[in-house]
Amino acid sequence: NGRNRVSHYSGDQGAQQDVLARQLILLSELHDAYARNEFFLEYQPIMDAHGEALTAVEALIRWRKADGTVVPPDQFIPIAEQSRLIVHLGRWVLQQVCRDLPRMQAAGMGKVRVHINMAAPEFLDGELPAELIAIVRAARVDPGCLQLELTESVVMTRIEKSLPIMRKLAQLGFEISLDDFGMGYSSLSMLKTLPIASLKIDRLFLEGVPHNRDDCAIVRTMLDLGRNMKLRVIAEGVETDAQLGYLRQFGCTLVQGYLLGRPMGLAALISRHGAAAPA
Ligand code: C2E
Ligand code: CA
Ligand code: CA
Ligand code: CA
Repeated sequence: NGRNRVSHYSGDQGAQQDVLARQLILLSELHDAYARNEFFLEYQPIMDAHGEALTAVEALIRWRKADGTVVPPDQFIPIAEQSRLIVHLGRWVLQQVCRDLPRMQAAGMGKVRVHINMAAPEFLDGELPAELIAIVRAARVDPGCLQLELTESVVMTRIEKSLPIMRKLAQLGFEISLDDFGMGYSSLSMLKTLPIASLKIDRLFLEGVPHNRDDCAIVRTMLDLGRNMKLRVIAEGVETDAQLGYLRQFGCTLVQGYLLGRPMGLAALISRHGAAAPA
């Protein structure tokens, strides 16, 4: 079977090289995009469970290419994470949020918090707390207005490294949120030791609500857990009235999803949620 195997392996290798080559091209395009300032942020509302009051927004990065097409983060963040570029991108996000937040406040959005996603290399970089504090001080932003979203997997798989960084950040006044919660990494006893303010229930679980019994049981359990641990729980990916009704019935207080509002630019956010917005 020698011949078949040989051709099989070389075929595989060829395909792998293709993937690698495409990733390298994308990475170099991303460096150019960064130099040309082609990234921008959208903000998605996080509302109370009645869909009435805006309590926070999540900053979500996008890439607008020179030809006008907009590339979603799932298509470039994982590539950027393979290089130092992610650290620069992350700092850019923070700086942009610090420029936008005072405009939200000036527009009458009150004590809105901004959630910021942090990639593993960014968060595990020992310089992060010092750089964060320098950025917020320069912008005169209260660190308590920023909520750093770390995924459960990043925190839990590198717990000995992540715990001291989380403690330092919490001590500096930043709030921490555990993103994509329920995707399978947390031990519940570990959760107790984390300096976190909130949990975000992953969108996958909401997909089965209210028709799938298992998903409903999981969501209710997470809501209970959050309540018992005095954490805020945010349900992500709320798309239907039935989902919202179910969440409300089981005591969920914070929701995010297309039903409540899609990610939008700063101007749209202010006109929808600022003090001058129509009631
Ligand atoms: P995530 O942190 O889980 O963000 C939530 C994603 O769900 C966003 O996708 C949001 O647009 C989408 N979403 C919100 N509500 C709904 C809904 O009702 N239905 C559906 N189908 N989707 C909904 P987006 O903006 O494409 O971001 C994807 C991921 O990219 C984020 O997932 C996050 O992991 C990453 N990301 C986004 N911005 C940043 C950033 O600034 N830095 C880093 N490191 N990662 C980012
Ligand atoms: Ca997030
Ligand atoms: Ca999430
Ligand atoms: Ca997610």
